[in-house]
Amino acid sequence: MKVTILTHTPDPEKTVASAARLCYSNIGPMEIMENFTDEKVTSFVQKLVESGHMSPLEHASFTFAIEGVSRTLLAQITRHRIASYSVQSLRYNNPFDKELDKQEEADEALIKAQNRAYLKGFAQSGKDLPPEAAGIEEGELAVPDKIEGEDLSHLLRGLFDAAGEVASDGLSLSFPGKFSSILSQSPFEFEQKGENLVLSGEKALDFCCFLYDGLDFSRSLYSKEKLADLCKKSPEFFDRIRKKAKEYIAERYYCVLPVEIEKNLDAIFTYISAAETCKKAYLDMVKMGVDKEDARYVLPMGTCTNLVVTMNARSLYNFFHLRCCERAQSEIRELARAMLEEVKKIAPNLFKKAGAPCEATGYCPEGTFSCGKYPVRN
Ligand SMILES: Cc1cc2nc3c(=O)[nH]c(=O)nc-3n(C[C@H](O)[C@H](O)[C@H](O)COP(=O)(O)OP(=O)(O)OC[C@H]3O[C@@H](n4cnc5c(N)ncnc54)[C@H](O)[C@@H]3O)c2cc1C
Repeated sequence: MKVTILTHTPDPEKTVASAARLCYSNIGPMEIMENFTDEKVTSFVQKLVESGHMSPLEHASFTFAIEGVSRTLLAQITRHRIASYSVQSLRYNNPFDKELDKQEEADEALIKAQNRAYLKGFAQSGKDLPPEAAGIEEGELAVPDKIEGEDLSHLLRGLFDAAGEVASDGLSLSFPGKFSSILSQSPFEFEQKGENLVLSGEKALDFCCFLYDGLDFSRSLYSKEKLADLCKKSPEFFDRIRKKAKEYIAERYYCVLPVEIEKNLDAIFTYISAAETCKKAYLDMVKMGVDKEDARYVLPMGTCTNLVVTMNARSLYNFFHLRCCERAQSEIRELARAMLEEVKKIAPNLFKKAGAPCEATGYCPEGTFSCGKYPVRN
Protein backbone atom coordinates (compact mmCIF):
# COMPACT_ATOMS: atom_id res chain seq x y z
CA MET A 1 0.00 0.00 0.00
CA LYS A 2 1.23 3.46 -0.88
CA VAL A 3 -0.37 6.67 0.39
CA THR A 4 0.52 10.09 -0.99
CA ILE A 5 -1.14 13.47 -0.55
CA LEU A 6 -1.67 14.74 -4.10
CA THR A 7 -2.91 18.16 -3.09
CA HIS A 8 -4.62 20.03 -0.24
CA THR A 9 -6.14 23.40 0.64
CA PRO A 10 -3.26 25.89 0.78
CA ASP A 11 -2.43 26.87 4.35
CA PRO A 12 -5.16 24.62 5.81
CA GLU A 13 -4.73 25.65 9.45
CA LYS A 14 -4.94 29.37 8.64
CA THR A 15 -8.00 28.78 6.43
CA VAL A 16 -9.79 26.87 9.20
CA ALA A 17 -8.76 29.35 11.90
CA SER A 18 -9.92 32.32 9.79
CA ALA A 19 -13.28 30.71 9.07
CA ALA A 20 -13.80 29.98 12.77
CA ARG A 21 -12.62 33.44 13.87
CA LEU A 22 -15.18 34.98 11.55
CA CYS A 23 -17.97 33.55 13.70
CA TYR A 24 -16.88 35.80 16.59
CA SER A 25 -15.63 38.84 14.68
CA ASN A 26 -17.07 42.03 13.25
CA ILE A 27 -14.32 42.36 10.59
CA GLY A 28 -14.28 40.63 7.16
CA PRO A 29 -12.64 37.26 6.37
CA MET A 30 -9.85 38.74 4.20
CA GLU A 31 -8.79 41.09 7.00
CA ILE A 32 -8.83 38.23 9.51
CA MET A 33 -6.69 36.07 7.21
CA GLU A 34 -4.14 38.86 6.68
CA ASN A 35 -3.83 39.65 10.39
CA PHE A 36 -3.48 36.09 11.66
CA THR A 37 0.08 35.36 12.86
CA ASP A 38 1.34 31.73 12.89
CA GLU A 39 1.24 31.69 16.73
CA LYS A 40 -2.38 32.90 16.77
CA VAL A 41 -3.38 30.30 14.14
CA THR A 42 -1.80 27.50 16.20
CA SER A 43 -3.49 28.50 19.43
CA PHE A 44 -6.84 29.14 17.72
CA VAL A 45 -6.88 25.79 15.91
CA GLN A 46 -5.93 23.93 19.09
CA LYS A 47 -8.78 25.60 21.03
CA LEU A 48 -11.17 24.81 18.19
CA VAL A 49 -10.55 21.06 18.11
CA GLU A 50 -10.45 20.83 21.91
CA SER A 51 -13.85 22.55 22.16
CA GLY A 52 -15.35 20.27 19.47
CA HIS A 53 -16.36 23.22 17.24
CA MET A 54 -15.76 21.12 14.13
CA SER A 55 -17.67 22.75 11.25
CA PRO A 56 -14.83 25.21 10.31
CA LEU A 57 -12.68 22.12 9.61
CA GLU A 58 -14.81 21.51 6.53
CA HIS A 59 -12.99 24.38 4.77
CA ALA A 60 -9.72 22.38 4.53
CA SER A 61 -9.60 19.44 2.12
CA PHE A 62 -6.95 16.83 1.40
CA THR A 63 -6.66 14.69 -1.73
CA PHE A 64 -4.91 11.32 -1.37
CA ALA A 65 -3.52 8.92 -3.97
CA ILE A 66 -3.94 5.42 -2.55
CA GLU A 67 -2.23 2.60 -4.41
CA GLY A 68 -2.21 -1.18 -4.00
CA VAL A 69 -5.24 -1.71 -1.75
CA SER A 70 -7.87 -4.43 -2.05
CA ARG A 71 -11.42 -4.20 -3.30
CA THR A 72 -12.42 -5.31 0.20
CA LEU A 73 -10.92 -2.06 1.45
CA LEU A 74 -12.68 -0.19 -1.35
CA ALA A 75 -16.06 -1.48 -0.13
CA GLN A 76 -15.26 -0.22 3.37
CA ILE A 77 -13.81 3.20 2.56
CA THR A 78 -16.60 4.16 0.17
CA ARG A 79 -19.11 3.76 3.02
CA HIS A 80 -17.66 7.10 4.18
CA ARG A 81 -20.09 9.30 2.26
CA ILE A 82 -18.62 12.69 3.06
CA ALA A 83 -15.80 12.24 0.54
CA SER A 84 -15.14 12.11 -3.22
CA TYR A 85 -13.70 9.03 -4.93
CA SER A 86 -12.18 8.03 -8.27
CA VAL A 87 -11.34 4.35 -8.59
CA GLN A 88 -9.30 2.29 -11.06
CA SER A 89 -11.81 0.17 -12.93
CA LEU A 90 -11.65 -3.51 -13.80
CA ARG A 91 -14.13 -2.73 -16.53
CA TYR A 92 -11.43 -1.05 -18.59
CA ASN A 93 -8.28 -2.62 -17.16
CA ASN A 94 -7.31 -6.26 -17.39
CA PRO A 95 -4.78 -6.86 -14.60
CA PHE A 96 -3.47 -9.88 -16.52
CA ASP A 97 -2.72 -8.36 -19.91
CA LYS A 98 0.73 -9.95 -19.80
CA GLU A 99 -0.84 -13.41 -19.77
CA LEU A 100 -2.78 -12.69 -22.94
CA ASP A 101 0.34 -12.05 -24.97
CA LYS A 102 3.26 -14.39 -25.63
CA GLN A 103 5.03 -13.55 -22.33
CA GLU A 104 3.17 -16.32 -20.46
CA GLU A 105 4.44 -18.97 -22.90
CA ALA A 106 8.06 -17.87 -22.30
CA ASP A 107 7.41 -18.02 -18.52
CA GLU A 108 5.95 -21.52 -18.80
CA ALA A 109 9.01 -22.75 -20.74
CA LEU A 110 11.30 -21.38 -18.02
CA ILE A 111 9.29 -23.00 -15.20
CA LYS A 112 9.28 -26.29 -17.12
CA ALA A 113 13.10 -26.22 -17.35
CA GLN A 114 13.37 -25.40 -13.62
CA ASN A 115 11.02 -28.25 -12.74
CA ARG A 116 13.07 -30.63 -14.88
CA ALA A 117 16.15 -29.58 -12.84
CA TYR A 118 14.19 -30.24 -9.62
CA LEU A 119 13.27 -33.73 -10.81
CA LYS A 120 16.91 -34.45 -11.65
CA GLY A 121 17.88 -33.59 -8.08
CA PHE A 122 15.00 -35.62 -6.65
CA ALA A 123 15.84 -38.64 -8.83
CA GLN A 124 19.33 -38.93 -7.27
CA SER A 125 17.71 -40.15 -4.04
CA GLY A 126 16.36 -43.29 -5.73
CA LYS A 127 12.93 -42.56 -4.18
CA ASP A 128 9.67 -42.75 -6.13
CA LEU A 129 9.39 -39.64 -8.27
CA PRO A 130 6.48 -37.19 -7.97
CA PRO A 131 3.65 -37.56 -10.53
CA GLU A 132 5.03 -34.60 -12.53
CA ALA A 133 7.84 -36.91 -13.70
CA ALA A 134 5.38 -39.14 -15.60
CA GLY A 135 6.51 -39.64 -19.18
CA ILE A 136 10.11 -38.56 -18.58
CA GLU A 137 12.72 -41.21 -19.42
CA GLU A 138 15.18 -42.16 -16.66
CA GLY A 139 18.15 -41.10 -18.83
CA GLU A 140 16.72 -37.59 -19.10
CA LEU A 141 17.10 -37.16 -15.34
CA ALA A 142 20.85 -37.73 -15.11
CA VAL A 143 22.77 -34.94 -13.35
CA PRO A 144 25.40 -33.39 -15.65
CA ASP A 145 29.01 -33.07 -14.44
CA LYS A 146 28.62 -29.31 -14.43
CA ILE A 147 25.19 -28.07 -13.37
CA GLU A 148 24.03 -24.89 -15.13
CA GLY A 149 23.96 -21.90 -12.74
CA GLU A 150 20.25 -21.15 -13.14
CA ASP A 151 19.28 -24.81 -12.62
CA LEU A 152 21.37 -25.33 -9.49
CA SER A 153 18.95 -24.06 -6.85
CA HIS A 154 16.04 -26.05 -8.32
CA LEU A 155 18.13 -29.22 -8.59
CA LEU A 156 19.36 -28.85 -5.00
CA ARG A 157 15.78 -28.24 -3.81
CA GLY A 158 14.77 -31.52 -5.48
CA LEU A 159 17.64 -33.32 -3.76
CA PHE A 160 16.78 -31.66 -0.44
CA ASP A 161 13.09 -32.58 -0.67
CA ALA A 162 13.97 -36.21 -1.39
CA ALA A 163 17.09 -36.83 0.68
CA GLY A 164 17.77 -33.84 2.95
CA GLU A 165 17.01 -33.95 6.67
CA VAL A 166 16.08 -31.08 8.96
CA ALA A 167 17.35 -31.43 12.54
CA SER A 168 14.70 -31.51 15.28
CA ASP A 169 15.95 -28.33 16.98
CA GLY A 170 17.45 -25.14 15.56
CA LEU A 171 18.12 -24.78 11.87
CA SER A 172 20.48 -27.54 10.77
CA LEU A 173 20.33 -29.50 7.51
CA SER A 174 22.05 -32.71 6.53
CA PHE A 175 22.49 -34.84 3.41
CA PRO A 176 23.95 -38.33 3.06
CA GLY A 177 27.68 -38.04 2.21
CA LYS A 178 27.18 -39.80 -1.13
CA PHE A 179 25.82 -36.54 -2.57
CA SER A 180 29.09 -34.68 -2.02
CA SER A 181 29.83 -34.30 -5.75
CA ILE A 182 26.48 -32.54 -6.30
CA LEU A 183 26.63 -30.46 -3.12
CA SER A 184 30.20 -29.36 -3.86
CA GLN A 185 28.84 -27.52 -6.92
CA SER A 186 26.87 -25.24 -4.60
CA PRO A 187 28.49 -22.13 -3.11
CA PHE A 188 28.18 -23.67 0.40
CA GLU A 189 30.81 -25.55 2.38
CA PHE A 190 29.24 -28.52 4.12
CA GLU A 191 30.79 -29.99 7.25
CA GLN A 192 31.42 -33.74 7.32
CA LYS A 193 29.76 -35.22 10.43
CA GLY A 194 30.02 -39.01 10.49
CA GLU A 195 28.37 -40.23 7.27
CA ASN A 196 26.60 -36.94 6.66
CA LEU A 197 27.23 -33.52 5.19
CA VAL A 198 25.85 -30.83 7.46
CA LEU A 199 25.07 -27.09 7.40
CA SER A 200 23.96 -25.19 10.52
CA GLY A 201 23.01 -21.71 11.74
CA GLU A 202 23.56 -18.77 9.38
CA LYS A 203 24.96 -21.04 6.66
CA ALA A 204 21.85 -23.23 6.78
CA LEU A 205 19.66 -20.13 6.55
CA ASP A 206 21.59 -18.88 3.52
CA PHE A 207 21.32 -22.32 1.92
CA CYS A 208 17.52 -22.35 2.44
CA CYS A 209 17.23 -18.88 0.90
CA PHE A 210 19.27 -20.13 -2.06
CA LEU A 211 16.97 -23.18 -2.51
CA TYR A 212 13.74 -21.15 -2.47
CA ASP A 213 14.94 -17.94 -4.08
CA GLY A 214 13.60 -18.78 -7.54
CA LEU A 215 10.44 -20.48 -6.24
CA ASP A 216 7.19 -19.88 -8.09
CA PHE A 217 4.65 -20.80 -5.39
CA SER A 218 1.99 -22.18 -7.72
CA ARG A 219 4.04 -23.62 -10.58
CA SER A 220 7.38 -24.80 -9.16
CA LEU A 221 7.85 -28.29 -7.77
CA TYR A 222 8.55 -28.35 -4.03
CA SER A 223 7.49 -30.13 -0.88
CA LYS A 224 5.13 -27.90 1.11
CA GLU A 225 5.82 -30.06 4.19
CA LYS A 226 9.58 -29.48 3.93
CA LEU A 227 9.08 -25.74 3.44
CA ALA A 228 6.68 -25.64 6.42
CA ASP A 229 9.20 -27.53 8.55
CA LEU A 230 11.96 -25.01 7.72
CA CYS A 231 9.63 -22.08 8.47
CA LYS A 232 8.80 -23.64 11.84
CA LYS A 233 12.48 -24.07 12.69
CA SER A 234 13.53 -20.59 11.62
CA PRO A 235 11.29 -17.53 12.16
CA GLU A 236 13.83 -15.51 10.17
CA PHE A 237 13.40 -17.83 7.18
CA PHE A 238 9.61 -17.69 7.58
CA ASP A 239 9.81 -13.89 7.44
CA ARG A 240 11.61 -14.11 4.10
CA ILE A 241 9.06 -16.59 2.72
CA ARG A 242 6.19 -14.36 3.87
CA LYS A 243 7.71 -11.36 2.14
CA LYS A 244 8.31 -13.40 -0.99
CA ALA A 245 4.72 -14.72 -0.96
CA LYS A 246 3.35 -11.20 -0.55
CA GLU A 247 5.34 -9.95 -3.56
CA TYR A 248 4.38 -13.05 -5.56
CA ILE A 249 0.67 -12.59 -4.82
CA ALA A 250 0.83 -8.90 -5.78
CA GLU A 251 2.70 -9.67 -8.99
CA ARG A 252 0.97 -12.86 -10.18
CA TYR A 253 -2.60 -12.28 -8.95
CA TYR A 254 -2.70 -8.50 -8.57
CA CYS A 255 -3.96 -9.20 -5.05
CA VAL A 256 -3.32 -7.98 -1.51
CA LEU A 257 -2.22 -10.55 1.11
CA PRO A 258 -4.04 -9.71 4.38
CA VAL A 259 -1.94 -9.78 7.55
CA GLU A 260 -3.78 -12.63 9.29
CA ILE A 261 -3.23 -14.88 6.26
CA GLU A 262 0.39 -13.75 5.96
CA LYS A 263 1.07 -15.11 9.47
CA ASN A 264 0.10 -18.68 8.54
CA LEU A 265 1.96 -20.62 5.84
CA ASP A 266 -0.90 -23.08 5.24
CA ALA A 267 -3.28 -20.14 4.83
CA ILE A 268 -0.85 -18.58 2.34
CA PHE A 269 -0.87 -21.81 0.29
CA THR A 270 -4.69 -21.88 0.40
CA TYR A 271 -4.92 -18.21 -0.65
CA ILE A 272 -2.54 -18.78 -3.57
CA SER A 273 -4.44 -21.83 -4.72
CA ALA A 274 -7.78 -19.96 -4.66
CA ALA A 275 -6.27 -16.93 -6.46
CA GLU A 276 -4.80 -19.23 -9.14
CA THR A 277 -8.23 -20.79 -9.78
CA CYS A 278 -9.91 -17.36 -10.02
CA LYS A 279 -7.24 -16.00 -12.33
CA LYS A 280 -7.50 -19.01 -14.64
CA ALA A 281 -11.31 -18.74 -14.80
CA TYR A 282 -11.05 -14.99 -15.54
CA LEU A 283 -8.51 -15.48 -18.33
CA ASP A 284 -10.42 -18.42 -19.82
CA MET A 285 -13.55 -16.26 -20.06
CA VAL A 286 -11.69 -13.26 -21.52
CA LYS A 287 -10.16 -15.59 -24.14
CA MET A 288 -13.71 -16.86 -24.92
CA GLY A 289 -14.63 -13.25 -25.74
CA VAL A 290 -16.50 -12.43 -22.49
CA ASP A 291 -16.29 -8.69 -21.67
CA LYS A 292 -13.79 -7.83 -18.91
CA GLU A 293 -16.58 -6.11 -16.98
CA ASP A 294 -18.40 -9.44 -16.65
CA ALA A 295 -15.38 -11.77 -16.46
CA ARG A 296 -14.17 -9.79 -13.38
CA TYR A 297 -17.01 -11.29 -11.30
CA VAL A 298 -14.78 -14.30 -10.56
CA LEU A 299 -11.84 -12.22 -9.31
CA PRO A 300 -11.25 -12.25 -5.53
CA MET A 301 -12.10 -9.36 -3.22
CA GLY A 302 -8.38 -9.24 -2.47
CA THR A 303 -7.80 -7.93 -6.03
CA CYS A 304 -5.87 -4.65 -5.99
CA THR A 305 -7.09 -1.26 -6.98
CA ASN A 306 -5.85 2.33 -6.90
CA LEU A 307 -7.96 5.29 -5.92
CA VAL A 308 -7.96 9.03 -5.40
CA VAL A 309 -9.89 10.21 -2.35
CA THR A 310 -10.70 13.73 -1.22
CA MET A 311 -12.00 14.39 2.27
CA ASN A 312 -12.31 17.54 4.30
CA ALA A 313 -10.66 17.68 7.72
CA ARG A 314 -13.93 17.15 9.60
CA SER A 315 -14.75 14.02 7.61
CA LEU A 316 -11.16 12.87 8.10
CA TYR A 317 -11.63 13.21 11.88
CA ASN A 318 -14.63 10.89 11.66
CA PHE A 319 -12.73 8.49 9.38
CA PHE A 320 -9.69 8.36 11.70
CA HIS A 321 -11.97 7.98 14.74
CA LEU A 322 -13.59 4.87 13.25
CA ARG A 323 -10.73 3.35 11.28
CA CYS A 324 -7.60 3.95 13.39
CA CYS A 325 -9.21 1.92 16.18
CA GLU A 326 -7.85 -1.63 16.78
CA ARG A 327 -11.38 -2.89 16.06
CA ALA A 328 -11.22 -1.70 12.45
CA GLN A 329 -10.14 -4.33 9.90
CA SER A 330 -6.35 -4.53 9.49
CA GLU A 331 -5.96 -3.16 5.95
CA ILE A 332 -8.21 -0.09 6.38
CA ARG A 333 -6.60 0.50 9.80
CA GLU A 334 -3.17 0.52 8.15
CA LEU A 335 -4.50 2.93 5.54
CA ALA A 336 -6.14 5.25 8.09
CA ARG A 337 -2.96 5.38 10.17
CA ALA A 338 -0.86 6.13 7.07
CA MET A 339 -3.27 8.91 6.01
CA LEU A 340 -3.20 10.39 9.53
CA GLU A 341 0.59 10.40 9.50
CA GLU A 342 0.57 12.28 6.18
CA VAL A 343 -1.95 14.98 7.19
CA LYS A 344 -0.14 15.53 10.49
CA LYS A 345 2.97 16.49 8.52
CA ILE A 346 0.99 19.29 6.84
CA ALA A 347 -1.40 20.38 9.60
CA PRO A 348 -0.15 19.07 12.97
CA ASN A 349 -2.38 21.30 15.08
CA LEU A 350 -5.48 20.59 13.06
CA PHE A 351 -5.07 16.83 13.53
CA LYS A 352 -3.66 16.88 17.06
CA LYS A 353 -6.78 15.23 18.47
CA ALA A 354 -7.41 12.93 15.48
CA GLY A 355 -7.10 9.15 15.63
CA ALA A 356 -8.78 6.33 17.54
CA PRO A 357 -11.04 7.77 20.27
CA CYS A 358 -8.90 6.25 23.02
CA GLU A 359 -5.79 8.11 21.84
CA ALA A 360 -7.56 11.46 22.30
CA THR A 361 -9.49 10.71 25.51
CA GLY A 362 -7.50 7.99 27.31
CA TYR A 363 -10.67 5.85 27.43
CA CYS A 364 -12.09 3.15 25.17
CA PRO A 365 -15.76 3.48 24.08
CA GLU A 366 -15.93 -0.07 22.67
CA GLY A 367 -17.20 -1.78 25.83
CA THR A 368 -16.83 -5.57 25.68
CA PHE A 369 -15.14 -5.25 22.26
CA SER A 370 -12.27 -3.23 23.76
CA CYS A 371 -8.74 -4.31 22.72
CA GLY A 372 -7.61 -3.59 26.29
CA LYS A 373 -5.13 -0.83 25.44
CA TYR A 374 -7.10 1.78 27.45
CA PRO A 375 -9.68 1.50 30.25
CA VAL A 376 -13.25 1.11 29.06
CA ARG A 377 -15.73 3.93 29.59
CA ASN A 378 -19.28 2.57 29.52
C1 LIG B 1 -15.44 -1.46 13.05
C2 LIG B 1 -16.50 -1.18 12.01
C3 LIG B 1 -17.39 -2.17 11.66
C4 LIG B 1 -18.39 -1.92 10.70
N1 LIG B 1 -19.25 -2.93 10.35
C5 LIG B 1 -20.25 -2.67 9.47
C6 LIG B 1 -21.20 -3.67 9.12
O1 LIG B 1 -21.15 -4.79 9.63
N2 LIG B 1 -22.17 -3.39 8.20
C7 LIG B 1 -22.27 -2.13 7.64
O2 LIG B 1 -23.18 -1.90 6.82
N3 LIG B 1 -21.37 -1.18 7.92
C8 LIG B 1 -20.39 -1.40 8.81
N4 LIG B 1 -19.48 -0.42 9.11
C9 LIG B 1 -19.55 0.86 8.38
C10 LIG B 1 -20.25 1.94 9.21
O3 LIG B 1 -21.57 1.56 9.55
C11 LIG B 1 -20.29 3.27 8.43
O4 LIG B 1 -21.07 3.10 7.26
C12 LIG B 1 -18.93 3.75 8.02
O5 LIG B 1 -18.02 3.64 9.08
C13 LIG B 1 -19.02 5.21 7.58
O6 LIG B 1 -19.20 6.01 8.70
P1 LIG B 1 -20.05 7.33 8.67
O7 LIG B 1 -21.45 7.09 8.24
O8 LIG B 1 -19.87 7.97 10.03
O9 LIG B 1 -19.26 8.21 7.59
P2 LIG B 1 -19.84 9.22 6.51
O10 LIG B 1 -20.75 8.54 5.57
O11 LIG B 1 -18.64 9.91 5.93
O12 LIG B 1 -20.68 10.22 7.34
C14 LIG B 1 -20.06 11.14 8.25
C15 LIG B 1 -21.08 11.63 9.22
O13 LIG B 1 -22.04 12.39 8.54
C16 LIG B 1 -23.33 12.17 9.11
N5 LIG B 1 -24.18 11.60 8.06
C17 LIG B 1 -23.82 11.17 6.84
N6 LIG B 1 -24.87 10.76 6.14
C18 LIG B 1 -25.94 10.92 6.93
C19 LIG B 1 -27.32 10.65 6.78
N7 LIG B 1 -27.84 10.12 5.69
N8 LIG B 1 -28.13 10.95 7.81
C20 LIG B 1 -27.65 11.48 8.94
N9 LIG B 1 -26.36 11.76 9.18
C21 LIG B 1 -25.51 11.48 8.16
C22 LIG B 1 -23.13 11.21 10.26
O14 LIG B 1 -22.96 11.98 11.44
C23 LIG B 1 -21.86 10.51 9.92
O15 LIG B 1 -21.16 10.02 11.05
C24 LIG B 1 -18.48 -0.65 10.07
C25 LIG B 1 -17.55 0.36 10.43
C26 LIG B 1 -16.58 0.10 11.39
C27 LIG B 1 -15.61 1.20 11.74
